[in-house]
Amino acid sequence: MEELTAHIAALGEKPFRAKQLYQWMHRKLADSYDEMTNLSAALRGKLRDTCEYIHLEMVDRKISAVDGTEKYLFRLADGSVIESVLMRYHHGNSVCISSQVGCRMGCRFCASTIGGLTRNLLPSEMLDQIYQIQKISGERVSNVVVMGTGEPLDNYDNLLRFLRILTDENGLNISQRNVTVSTCGIVEKIRALADEKLQITLALSLHASNQEKRKQLMMVAHKYELQDVLDACRYYFDQTGRRITFEYSLVGGVNDTEQDARELAALLSGLNCHVNLIPVNPIKERNFVEPERAVVQDFKNKLEKYRINVTIRREMGRDIAGACGQLRKSYIENQK
Ligand code: SAH
Repeated sequence: MEELTAHIAALGEKPFRAKQLYQWMHRKLADSYDEMTNLSAALRGKLRDTCEYIHLEMVDRKISAVDGTEKYLFRLADGSVIESVLMRYHHGNSVCISSQVGCRMGCRFCASTIGGLTRNLLPSEMLDQIYQIQKISGERVSNVVVMGTGEPLDNYDNLLRFLRILTDENGLNISQRNVTVSTCGIVEKIRALADEKLQITLALSLHASNQEKRKQLMMVAHKYELQDVLDACRYYFDQTGRRITFEYSLVGGVNDTEQDARELAALLSGLNCHVNLIPVNPIKERNFVEPERAVVQDFKNKLEKYRINVTIRREMGRDIAGACGQLRKSYIENQK
């Protein structure tokens, strides 16, 4: 709002015009300056000449026959495509957004990282994923998870601007408590985010209960020691009072044994946290498989025995390439 007000003043317009503009952008979710009918044609012209208006174009929308989950593919101004997901829960609608075009983190089981990183998304490009989905679906979005393609903490400044506008009372006004940011564990950025003292939830992609095993699954573990990652998580909790979510993708025969569960419980004991177990969603480029249902349930029971808070993530949208980066990847491959 401050930046808009300064820009509007520089164009020789009155400050209330900035308010109107902000409303059109972040509350009425306009797709272009043309829709802003209470602004003069002259002002709209000046805006067009000075600021590009970012608007994503939907190129595909897949609706799951199983659970109503919707996957969206959007095209950006430079021709890149990104994907977002709308999930319907009893507590409201949740949108999962991408934070980058591609990803450079190199997690072994993830489809988003296979083509590497193309570029960071702008705050506007993160916001418009939610704006477009709310408009196209005609339903209110109450929760946002930054768990799509990309590593949000690798795009830190844009992520922060995005979070502030998303949760601004003059915008969609989504409660910070209804926003989750998921990271593979970039230690110094977790600490920086903690210092912002936002009320958002931090989700940490753990996937292994020791450093050696984590290195086999996640390239980022070659850079950061597991203990340092957990210390940063403790710091996040101390600064914000927000309980950490640990994501643990169960991969058959790799990290799903009793010993893994025991080690995991020991690793997290005393930490105010919640563990989310996600049976790995197999991608065709790798031969990872999901464990049998009984193995997943046993793993959960074991953790509970050690008094760890744990849930098994409901799998949604498997019939529509629901996992990280799958739809985008198949779209790009079909274009070739
Ligand atoms: N870069 C961030 C957010 C994007 S990935 C992060 O790493 O947390 C969101 C979550 O999905 C992460 O926990 C990631 O490890 C997990 N994930 C990615 N591909 C998966 C797959 N094929 N099956 C199960 N979980 C997957």
